[in-house]
Amino acid sequence: MKTVLITGSSRGIGAAIARRLNDEYKIVINYNNSKKKAFELLYELRKTNPNVIAIKADVSKEDEVNMMFDVAEKNFSNVDILINNAGISHFSLIQDIEFDIWKDVINTNLNSVFLSSKRAIPNMISKGEGVIINMSSIWGDFGASMEALYSTSKGAINTFTKSMAKELAPSGIRVNAIAPGIVETDMMKNDFTENELDKLKSEVPTNRFAKPEEIAGLVRYLISDEASYITGDIIHINGAFY
Ligand code: NAP
Repeated sequence: MKTVLITGSSRGIGAAIARRLNDEYKIVINYNNSKKKAFELLYELRKTNPNVIAIKADVSKEDEVNMMFDVAEKNFSNVDILINNAGISHFSLIQDIEFDIWKDVINTNLNSVFLSSKRAIPNMISKGEGVIINMSSIWGDFGASMEALYSTSKGAINTFTKSMAKELAPSGIRVNAIAPGIVETDMMKNDFTENELDKLKSEVPTNRFAKPEEIAGLVRYLISDEASYITGDIIHINGAFY
């Protein structure tokens, strides 16, 4: 049974991924602020899978990332699959973005991907196999007004993903990014009013947003051997939004 570590899996897309993988993998749930949700998920998954743990770690901080991997490896000996999912959004005009906020979003969305990957890669190389999935966004490709900071963090994730895939393919490690359109989670609910969400929805040809479970299904496929030749890709899942 392989071990999957999913950053930011107390809620939203990360929690849906943990649920979707629970029948076939050892699961490491990572949370930062949402301890109650993380433990509710832990108890839910443990009903059918004893191989689930939850670790608190702020993935924007190197010492906490390293501690998270130490604990995961102590429990499950190895992290075979890393899902870099944790992220935060920020909605603002460029000239109104405080530099501290800029750094916080880059640390959380981008530097976390570097830190977790850096810690995971040596063991994957030793085993001669591994899979890394980075959660990007449609805005990483296209950029978004009022979301320049968020878009920048995701655009850099796309470039990092392609570079990692090229560097790590000879070691048997696949690296891909998933770029969702709009997904029904707290992130969207916190950023937009109901009216704004209805207007946005009408701009998506499917006339609905993605469900977190639909992103989780794509993750399940991408980490499986069915996807053994897919690496270095940014896979879009956006209901024909773009
Ligand atoms: P969400 O519902 O707001 O959940 C965010 C998750 O990230 C939570 O579990 C949160 O944990 C965790 N997190 C945030 N900062 C963290 C940190 N410093 N350390 C550890 N965990 C941290 O968001 P979501 O919609 O599921 O988003 C998940 C990913 O998908 C993000 O990378 C996001 O950019 C991307 N995405 C989302 C959408 C969308 O429309 N929702 C679209 C495209 C891409 P705690 O609550 O425990 O702190």
